[in-house]
Amino acid sequence: MFRQRLLVIVVLSLLVAGSTIASREQAAQPARLKVLISVDMEGVAGVVTSEQLGPTGFEYGRFREFMTREALAAVEGARAAGATEIVVADAHGNGQNLLIEQFPDDVRVIRSWPRKLSMVAGVDEGVDALVFIGYHAGSNNPAGVRAHTFSSATLTRVALNGHFGVPVVMIAGDDAAIAEVRRAVGEIEAAETKRSLGFHSANTLTPQAAAAEIRRRVEAGLRGRQRFSPYRVGGPVTVDVSFKNYMPAEVLTYLPLFERTDSHSIRFSAADMAQASAIMAFITGYSPDITP
Ligand SMILES: [Zn+2]
Repeated sequence: MFRQRLLVIVVLSLLVAGSTIASREQAAQPARLKVLISVDMEGVAGVVTSEQLGPTGFEYGRFREFMTREALAAVEGARAAGATEIVVADAHGNGQNLLIEQFPDDVRVIRSWPRKLSMVAGVDEGVDALVFIGYHAGSNNPAGVRAHTFSSATLTRVALNGHFGVPVVMIAGDDAAIAEVRRAVGEIEAAETKRSLGFHSANTLTPQAAAAEIRRRVEAGLRGRQRFSPYRVGGPVTVDVSFKNYMPAEVLTYLPLFERTDSHSIRFSAADMAQASAIMAFITGYSPDITP
């Protein structure tokens, strides 16, 4: 996701000690296997600056192709592992990046915003496993991730996913994103599309090499899905949000739901991860002149 206006950091603190412990309660493998593939763009091979990430960038058109190629590789890997139903969520920028005509006819694609479950929209509809493609670590991620506290939007998504009892089985993205998610959920399958050399630089695979690796790792992740458990977060949860600008924090605090924690930051409490996600979707999606 690439939000120019608002969201910078999400820090989620868990109130219930021990609530991050995932529970193993997957039963025997069902014949039916529904897979949700959530596709962001920052972690796609070759992406290093905004030139690739949005419609005003001179390389965006080509990189939509590469993003789509990585998503298609994930679809192929899922198919090879026996997926019977595949949903792909376009989870970057305006949510309208993937070239939908390139997908097989039995794949459904979730597009545009806002949507209550954000980047994992659809995860509440009987999904058996989740795959992250094109993911990246939080840019303001504090170095030390303490027990029962984690940060970055990616981990928030992983936790939300666990709320619905769905394990993440594979992630594709840069080395930092993979390390971050593995710290939280364990050694899931991963395709490293590039190694970060800095905020705007990377040592990258080619798009075709990345696609081949993704296909292989998605298949392996899904075949071995019994090894992975949903990353459950018990409620209530406290969410801290810092904005790039001052005004969102000021105006949101007019509502009793939000507490101001510093000039650019607010805090709210939610009953569970699904409610926290819906409130986050509101914070990042609302403005008085939204249309229609
Ligand atoms: Zn993005």
